[in-house]
Amino acid sequence: MNEFELIRTFFARQDVTRPDVVAGIGDDAALLRLRPGQELAVTSDLMVSGVHFSLDADPFSLGHKALAVNLSDLAAMGAEPAWFMLNLTLPKVDARWLEAFSRGMFELAREYRVQLVGGDTSRGPLSIAIEAHGFVPEGKALRRSGAREGDRVYVTGTLGDAAMALDHRLGGIRLAENELSVLSERLDRPAPRVREGMMLRDIASSAIDISDGLVADLGHILEMSHVGAQLQLEKIPVSPLCRLHIRETGWDTILASGDDYELCFSVPVKNITALEKLRSNSGFHWIGVIEAKPGVRILDEAGKPYYPQQSGHDHFSIIAKKTT
Ligand code: ADP
Ligand code: MG
Repeated sequence: MNEFELIRTFFARQDVTRPDVVAGIGDDAALLRLRPGQELAVTSDLMVSGVHFSLDADPFSLGHKALAVNLSDLAAMGAEPAWFMLNLTLPKVDARWLEAFSRGMFELAREYRVQLVGGDTSRGPLSIAIEAHGFVPEGKALRRSGAREGDRVYVTGTLGDAAMALDHRLGGIRLAENELSVLSERLDRPAPRVREGMMLRDIASSAIDISDGLVADLGHILEMSHVGAQLQLEKIPVSPLCRLHIRETGWDTILASGDDYELCFSVPVKNITALEKLRSNSGFHWIGVIEAKPGVRILDEAGKPYYPQQSGHDHFSIIAKKTT
């Protein structure tokens, strides 16, 4: 199978065809119709075998996740996904792998009506780079820099599910078969919070998607907004299954791992009523407040400061350090 047959067989067969794609796969460049009064949000994510996933990883899940992480970045901007590009390097043409990979990718693409409009393909160590594009009305994008003192801090969904599955895979905790299958779903096939991101356009003052852990990613908002935050541990949403294992893993696993791809965002008090009227499957959970003093402070159930032990992310340097 040559390069053109490969592209035709596996990547030019998507059933989503958008009217704003003037020319998709097949010419020297895609031609895409822009929308007046809208900005284009553009993002890309690179996944390299041996670094982001192992060579024997399930190709269906890889296809899903490679696109999902990009849609999650668009969600965090409040953008409506439209198109994506796929750049692939493959050690060999493995039809079964490509079939499953493209199926996983297109299944998610269909759900969000995003169309694959081009890319590049070359021989090389397995790597997957997707670039995704989405629309957001002028001036309405959710930025990291908009959080203000007094705003409330929220997250979507539940945190830590993916981290528990990963901990099991790395030989930490032991999960039962049925637990592992539920939690692995979150790790391998995350659901990007696209609808929630779009709903929050006129409500949130800042947003980010949690890919490196709540504390690290909220830290990006705080730095760019020149503020701090206080969080309450008992308010952090955790699934019942995940909660069963917190005693073994500790809270750090929930706070310092981000593979769930939930959104973290701030909301000015005047917009809380509007937020509470929104309906979403993931839910919006209030976890703390923005304060003027820089850094993240976490209080446990007893109101005592909780100091995460785990570091490893640069941005832990902004956590309040125990001084005694
Ligand atoms: P060029 O030589 O101009 O780079 P290619 O032969 O690489 O063109 O690609 C031919 C067409 O196939 C282009 O429209 C390109 O966008 C598309 N394409 C190539 N690789 C992929 C891929 N992995 N997924 C989707 N489209 C692809
Ligand atoms: Mg090319």
